[in-house]
Amino acid sequence: MIGFDLGGSNLRAARFGDGAQPVASHREPVGEPRDPETIVERVARIAEQLAEPIEGVVPVGVGIAAMLRDRDGTVANSPHLRWRDVAFGTMLAARLGARFHVVVCNDVNAIVWGEAQDGAARGCRDVLGVHVGTGIGGGVIVGGELVTGASQCAGEIGHSKVRWDDAAAPCACGQRGCVEAYLGGSYLQARIARELAAGAHTAAIGLAGGGDVHPGHVDQAAGYGDEWALGLWSELAPLLAVAIGNALAVLNPERLVLGGGVLARCPTLRELVETALEVAAPSASLEPLTVVAAELGDDAGLVGAARLAGRAAAITSRR
Ligand SMILES: [Zn+2]
Repeated sequence: MIGFDLGGSNLRAARFGDGAQPVASHREPVGEPRDPETIVERVARIAEQLAEPIEGVVPVGVGIAAMLRDRDGTVANSPHLRWRDVAFGTMLAARLGARFHVVVCNDVNAIVWGEAQDGAARGCRDVLGVHVGTGIGGGVIVGGELVTGASQCAGEIGHSKVRWDDAAAPCACGQRGCVEAYLGGSYLQARIARELAAGAHTAAIGLAGGGDVHPGHVDQAAGYGDEWALGLWSELAPLLAVAIGNALAVLNPERLVLGGGVLARCPTLRELVETALEVAAPSASLEPLTVVAAELGDDAGLVGAARLAGRAAAITSRR
């Protein structure tokens, strides 16, 4: 089976056997042009190449950084790819033909499924995964099944609203006050730049050594007790904790998997989020819960997408 991870920067793909380690892999920048026709053609060619040694039906799972609309893999909105209302799954399936079984899913859904199959939530039946990278995504597994929702956008925790007053921050989804608009990496980076331009004094500037100050530098400074950095983290951490805590109240998972580049590079922020969760989540939801860090890193989405497609193809063939 073959898994793809189609993000805003990279197009990655891998062929898997039984394990979580790719047997063959491919990576190229998304680059330009990134119109749907061009991307479908590129994905199809890579899939055909990777599928060469496979006999029979080839499951192809594509995790895409997008808000989806239906089970056919229609992209409602992808700010990363600058796509709106694109019948991506249908186009790809038509281009690849009957030998391939195409499944399109949200990229973080794929990551969380991968972690549940082969990573930090192995063996768990009830899982919430939250991925804080450039944006914020999530994935929900209930009773061993990935919850996709009525229109394939279950788990979109990044667009949970944490502010709703006039000052609520605008989000790329078109609404305001989403938790992503506060803690998503690109928003975080912009916020840091704005505050520094306005004259914030912080050790993070020195830690960046003359380069751009990244969230990782702010986290290091916060770890040293830097007042500005700690102030910023103390404002933001509870917002993510509220979004996660409310989801825990509804879902009652046994495992919370925290992943993504921002949390990996910001251990102090992560610790503050976990502390805030103690008041942001109902204690009954916290009792059975173990909080863990994602294990599979960059490969989680590839494994997860491939496994979702493998599973869907197996179900179809049994019918
Ligand atoms: Zn949003």
